[in-house]
Amino acid sequence: MTGLIVAKFGGTSVADYDAMSRCASIVASNPETKIVVVSASSGVTNYLVRLAKGNLPTNERDAILAHIADIEFSILKKMGHKPEMAQALEHLLNELSACARDAELASSLALQDELLSFGERMSSLLFSEILREQGTHAINFDVRQVIKTDASHSKATPDIALIKHQAETLLMPELAHSVIVTQGFIGASDNGKTTTLGRGGSDYSAALLAESVKAEALQIWTDVNGIYTTDPRLTAKARPINEISFDEAAEMATFGAKILHPATLVPAMRASVRVFVGSSRQPEAGGTWVAWKTEHKPAYRAIALRKEQVLLTLKSPDMLHATGFLADVFTILARHKISVDLITTSEISVALTLDEPTNGNSRKITETLLDELKAVGEVTVEENLSLIAVIGNHLQATRGVGGNVLSALEKYNLRMICHGASAHNLCFLVQSEDAPGIVEHLHSCLFD
Ligand code: ASP
Ligand code: MG
Repeated sequence: MTGLIVAKFGGTSVADYDAMSRCASIVASNPETKIVVVSASSGVTNYLVRLAKGNLPTNERDAILAHIADIEFSILKKMGHKPEMAQALEHLLNELSACARDAELASSLALQDELLSFGERMSSLLFSEILREQGTHAINFDVRQVIKTDASHSKATPDIALIKHQAETLLMPELAHSVIVTQGFIGASDNGKTTTLGRGGSDYSAALLAESVKAEALQIWTDVNGIYTTDPRLTAKARPINEISFDEAAEMATFGAKILHPATLVPAMRASVRVFVGSSRQPEAGGTWVAWKTEHKPAYRAIALRKEQVLLTLKSPDMLHATGFLADVFTILARHKISVDLITTSEISVALTLDEPTNGNSRKITETLLDELKAVGEVTVEENLSLIAVIGNHLQATRGVGGNVLSALEKYNLRMICHGASAHNLCFLVQSEDAPGIVEHLHSCLFD
């Protein structure tokens, strides 16, 4: 199939009836849009997480359930008399209450995933009805038939081959006569249990579906009109980027830009699906296109900031003229499933950055890890650091890049600099309290 578009709408885009109606118009305005992936309405997943934790007094649990029911029914009420929809919604809410009671008795990650799935299951039910109201033939499709994963609850790994097979047999035939509305974020394991792809995982779901149906484009509709040159909260001068390459966008995601779930680009790159990011509030404002090829390849495209970094330095006199020291260090890190971002070495030491333990995205630096590292060298841990990445093209081969960036930062203490390994980034580590000021200043120097 060619020309097929998968459109994903985030939580704020489907927060209430009016927001959903705007999204329905976006879908209806383009007949190529055949698959619609929705997040839970804004706030719902957070409520569900609280229910899943268990340990709630009954009145608090009931209050949360009432808030959720209120969000969902306020959408339904604006649709007029819909007894069948009301019944379907009521049914889901009853199932959800039963799950929440189970979570009080014993909470497990499997039960948590089951609970969290209700947000997307309710928003997709309602969204499909809004599309039908606007005259689109839409059906609500249970994505758990297609998004097959392993059983690592709360952050499951998708089975790409199986997803492709399921999409070809169950999803593609439907596209001939309907627009499919389905859930982001959720999937199912081999034994049929509900799984989730991790918080914010709906983007990733949409990309997996786009890959599996060989879509022409994936649209990610959110509340900002595209990817910006830097986080607009850091400088008012940040501006939307019209187009950016997959390589650059992947670097941005790695180095802290929060606009897309970091895994989203992987299926899109694999299947060459162009990705559009735009605001469902202002579809006419345009947005950012991410693709393999871009018309322009400026040296400087964006600046990303990744907070909560730790710098780990290992010093070993044995490293002098020795071999195998780095191999030992990396073997230990790999055993602890720690991924390293930046690294610099000197004759007898190696320094590397990791996410701070409070940063939920990463594996933790544990005492055991430190003990194992201490066996190979003297370990120093520095905290309160932030990583800033200048992202662009040919950075390693463009004259003056190092000079431009460093002279802009004269006033600041740079703890570590990594330049040259990638054509698409130049990174450095700074004190966290300096980071916002540095981004603002550097943005003026490189982009004004
Ligand atoms: N509803 C899920 C979350 O809030 C997934 C998503 O919105 O992407 O994390
Ligand atoms: Mg999201």
